[in-house]
Amino acid sequence: MAGQIGSPKVALLGLTRQELSDLLSSWGYSKYYSGKVWSALYRQQLSRIEAIPGLRSDLQDRLSKRTIMKLLTPVTVVTSDDGQTKKILYRLRDGKTIETVIMGYRDRITLCVSTQVGCAIGCVFCATGQMGFERNLTPGEIVAQVQEAGRVEGKERLAVRNIVFMGMGEPMHNFESTMTAIEIITDDSGLAIGPRHITISTIGLPNEIRKFADTKMPVNLAVSLHAANDKDRSALVPINNRWPLDLVIEACYYYQEKTRRRIFFEWALIAGVNDTAKNAHEVGQLLSKMDAHVNLIPLNLTIGFDGQPANRKSASLFQQILREYGLPSTVRQRKGIDINAGCGQLRVN
Ligand code: SAH
Ligand code: SF4
Repeated sequence: MAGQIGSPKVALLGLTRQELSDLLSSWGYSKYYSGKVWSALYRQQLSRIEAIPGLRSDLQDRLSKRTIMKLLTPVTVVTSDDGQTKKILYRLRDGKTIETVIMGYRDRITLCVSTQVGCAIGCVFCATGQMGFERNLTPGEIVAQVQEAGRVEGKERLAVRNIVFMGMGEPMHNFESTMTAIEIITDDSGLAIGPRHITISTIGLPNEIRKFADTKMPVNLAVSLHAANDKDRSALVPINNRWPLDLVIEACYYYQEKTRRRIFFEWALIAGVNDTAKNAHEVGQLLSKMDAHVNLIPLNLTIGFDGQPANRKSASLFQQILREYGLPSTVRQRKGIDINAGCGQLRVN
């Protein structure tokens, strides 16, 4: 079973409902008890084994000895000036740290979740890429970011509406753990977050995009493009040398054939680098036959990259050209920039 980094104990948050039931049944407890534990984890969103109501004391003992419930400890929480974005720095059990971002308010919360400590892809404009790769998160550590979020707000649980896998790391480089986490997060009798409210963002790994398509999960796919020819893209996204654009696009067509779902393409707009009319026409030509939506994200500043965000005028010209190719697009609102919680600004030292 997964979720055991830094401890021989089983991480409860890394188990699917079936795995939890199998574990307890291997100890001789019926489904009645695994149901109680599951509900304590995801309905009540408790964080301590001793707090689970109605357990027999022998089961409580066993759970305490063999499992762990708490995987993340919040170290700092910073709130943006407008109060609508919060960035939480969590310590993992092995001392490493990650960040999770809470956006929105009341019942319109979007959670931006990390899948790795650091990232191995090394996109030049991304703070996480600039810090390098440390390790994959376990399924439990991914689920815990959702399960814990409410406590930061001083509540037991938080009405999370959307989840985006756009925090630290490349989810498709941690494929199995990300898929297991999604299975747990979407479970109807648990957190019950609809798969259509979840988006996986990837830098574009063709094999994993195909594998993801084959799962037929109705989870949204976002592909980070940033450039529409190999020369420009390789300069921004080094892994493009290994997985060039035509392979990425081919995999996107495969995904669409299998799922019939629209694909979101992410484009960090960098002034003078990829925000010109010529760039927009290239995107139009590349994607015009696809059911695609382009998300334009004016570059967020990071220490290791001296590019500047595109201005409003070039962003709207870019959109206008995409429209000529029948491509819908959105310019992403810049939120949480004052606390470095924007796309690509997450890093820990
Ligand atoms: N590794 C995945 C998901 C995490 S990054 C991916 O790359 O898709 C989430 C999004 O933030 C991606 O679209 C990424 O391209 C974008 N991003 C990274 N650095 C950025 C920056 N400095 N400014 C704006 N967007 C950035
Ligand atoms: Fe990794 Fe995504 Fe950052 Fe690129 S943009 S370095 S893939 S987290």
